[in-house]
Amino acid sequence: MKPLLLKGGRVVDPANPGSGTLRDVAVVDGRIAVPQPGQAYDTLDAGGCVVMAGGIDLHSHIGGGKVNLARMLMAEDHRAGPNPIALPSNALELASCGTCTPGTLATGYRYVEMGYTAAFEPAMVPSNARHAHMEMGDVPVLDHGAYVMLGSDELFLQLLAEGGAAAANFSQIRDYVGWTVNASKAMGVKVVNPGGISAFKVNQRKLDVNEPHVRWQVTPRQVVHTLARALKDLGVPHPLHIHGSNLGVAGNIASTLETIAALEGLPAHLTHVQFHAYGTEGPKKFSSAAAQLADAVNANPQISIDVGQIIFGQTVTASGDTMRQFANADLASPRKWVGSDIEAMAGCGVVPFRYREASYVNALQWAIGLEIFLLVKNPWQVVLTTDHPNGGPFTSYPHLIRLLMDRGFREEQLAKLHPDVAANCALKGLTRELTIEEIAVMTRAGPAKLLGLKDRGHLGAGAAADIAVYREQPDREAMFATPAHVFKDGVEVARAGRVLATPAGGVHFVEPGYDRAIEKTLRRHWEEQGAIRFEHVAISHDELCTCCNRGRLLPAALFEGAAA
Ligand SMILES: [Zn+2]
Ligand SMILES: [Zn+2]
Repeated sequence: MKPLLLKGGRVVDPANPGSGTLRDVAVVDGRIAVPQPGQAYDTLDAGGCVVMAGGIDLHSHIGGGKVNLARMLMAEDHRAGPNPIALPSNALELASCGTCTPGTLATGYRYVEMGYTAAFEPAMVPSNARHAHMEMGDVPVLDHGAYVMLGSDELFLQLLAEGGAAAANFSQIRDYVGWTVNASKAMGVKVVNPGGISAFKVNQRKLDVNEPHVRWQVTPRQVVHTLARALKDLGVPHPLHIHGSNLGVAGNIASTLETIAALEGLPAHLTHVQFHAYGTEGPKKFSSAAAQLADAVNANPQISIDVGQIIFGQTVTASGDTMRQFANADLASPRKWVGSDIEAMAGCGVVPFRYREASYVNALQWAIGLEIFLLVKNPWQVVLTTDHPNGGPFTSYPHLIRLLMDRGFREEQLAKLHPDVAANCALKGLTRELTIEEIAVMTRAGPAKLLGLKDRGHLGAGAAADIAVYREQPDREAMFATPAHVFKDGVEVARAGRVLATPAGGVHFVEPGYDRAIEKTLRRHWEEQGAIRFEHVAISHDELCTCCNRGRLLPAALFEGAAA
């Protein structure tokens, strides 16, 4: 591949000094390089454009059992194919469809057309890891990875109960976490409704942070603290990814703040916090607690969040939180839902949903998400997400970016909503407009840092040449919807909203060390309760590569000071 020079663009690269200046960016052998005088380059005029690293979605449901269940449940989302538009001669003929439940191919195409080059599946069930990797491997272009779900699996809860309040067997639990991350080739660990998915299986219909699980007598507080501590000890760069207790319940801000307290200063990432920032004030006993949440995030620099913004229209919610999805099933639109489970390890509930502007609750949820974005001071602690597809499809990101960058546009939208909402929330008074630097942090530099990806999310020399070139436009939605050029590892993969090439993406994973003595316990557990032999549970490098469509293996470095 001949060296490439992107000339004269405004380089927005918040991870490196000199961001926002006009300069050239060189690409040599798929990596960012320092431009050399006298070197022969293919040149591309980036004048009038903003040049950024490729976008990274740190929380998007793109692979694994419940994504497939959602596709099957939402046949109507797949009836209409793509519009037969005349394609430029160098564009690929691409067939794949779906909006809130796009097929694997459409997932890759739509992300790449917007300038995204990586996405992470947040809820991989250990016993379904092979399938999740295969499905992500089928997504073209994007690099991918997944967080494995722990915290409602029987073995973890049993070990936690055995260790008692003092966690006497902590090292055993840590080794179990280390083994699971290795075996499933995960990038981190997600806990969903800590302990609650399991509690639901013994008919407990709610489980608050300090409430004991009726069977195991352990609390969500213990689950969260133990997992966060284990990941820190193991040196896994992405801290515990937490989908907290009481998702969607009015007044759940108390549980969210309790969860932060349970961490006792350990680092953690709280996901789709919009769904966890509700108060009980006002005429409908449902109010915004965005300010309380933002205060807590501002006061705890070791905590990061993604928002899970809702977007009006049809979507489908697909969650590991069987307890909460069962409770929400009555609200399904269209009226159908599915729940499932594999080997009692986690859970799954898929409920179609239409967010309506005329609904007070939905309109307030929309406002709460935006308030969180605007009230958290440090953009490095916030990641831009819709929790695709739960709050809305990822294809709405350009619209969301405009809402955050353009106050006039935001107020126009607010005026269309249920009339009581503007009066009952703080959004109308928020004058902040996010800058393009802040958007670059929330969509690439920040997520790369939170995942420990040192050579992604920025345009410093040596970084992967994943690049998005956006033509400057006052309409930020139009600007971010259709970048002029998108490069993946130095190859131009999209131009003006059309996919040009579909190389296989790479797979990110992490391999923490652990004491193999734990395998004795695991072998006994799998032989008694698993569907396959213990020897076959762990995914090898060769198998991962085959699963992932022969994509590149991208093992992440552990952070320094890891125990093992
Ligand atoms: Zn979740
Ligand atoms: Zn999610």
